[in-house]
Amino acid sequence: MTSAEELVAKLLACTFRFRHHSRERDTCELPVLVERSGRQPRCPWHDSDARPAGFNVKEELEKEIRRPNHWLEGAKLEMSDLRRLSGNGARMPNADLEGSQLDGAMLHKAILDDASLISTELPAATLSYASLSAPNWIALNCRVLISRTAISPERAFTALHLTARTSLASS
Ligand SMILES: [Zn+2]
Repeated sequence: MTSAEELVAKLLACTFRFRHHSRERDTCELPVLVERSGRQPRCPWHDSDARPAGFNVKEELEKEIRRPNHWLEGAKLEMSDLRRLSGNGARMPNADLEGSQLDGAMLHKAILDDASLISTELPAATLSYASLSAPNWIALNCRVLISRTAISPERAFTALHLTARTSLASS
C-alpha cells in the first residue's frame, strides 16, 4: 500500500443506507469529513452537523451533482439556500428539502421521489422531466409548490405520474 492509499483507507465512509429502487449501491460510501464520537459515520449530506466549518452547501452540492455516479438519497438539505441551483439530473430521492429556497433552481430530469418539500420555495424552478413520485405531498401541496415553475400545476399531476413511470422503466 502506498501512503496515499493508506490515507484513503483510513478515511471513514458514510454508512447511510439507500432504499430507492434505482440505487446503484446500498450505502452512501462518501467520505466522512467530520467524525462525531458516539455517532454513525456520516458524510456532510447525511448529517448536517458533520459539515466542516465554511462548508458551502450549494457549491458542494453542485459539485457532487456533477459527479456521474452521485446518489444523494436522503440528503439533509432542510432550510438551505439553494436559489438558482444547477441541479439538472440531480439524484436526490427522499431528500429533506423542507423550508429550503430553490427559487429558479434547474432540476431538469432530477430524481426527487419522496423528497420532503414542505414549505420548500420553488418559484420559477425548472422541474421538466423530473421524477417526483410522492403520493403524500402531491395530494397536499402540489398546487402550491409548483406554481410558477416550468410545468403548469394542471399538467403536473400527469407529468408526475408519467415521470415516475419513466424512472421505474429505466431502472
Ligand atoms: Zn452519506
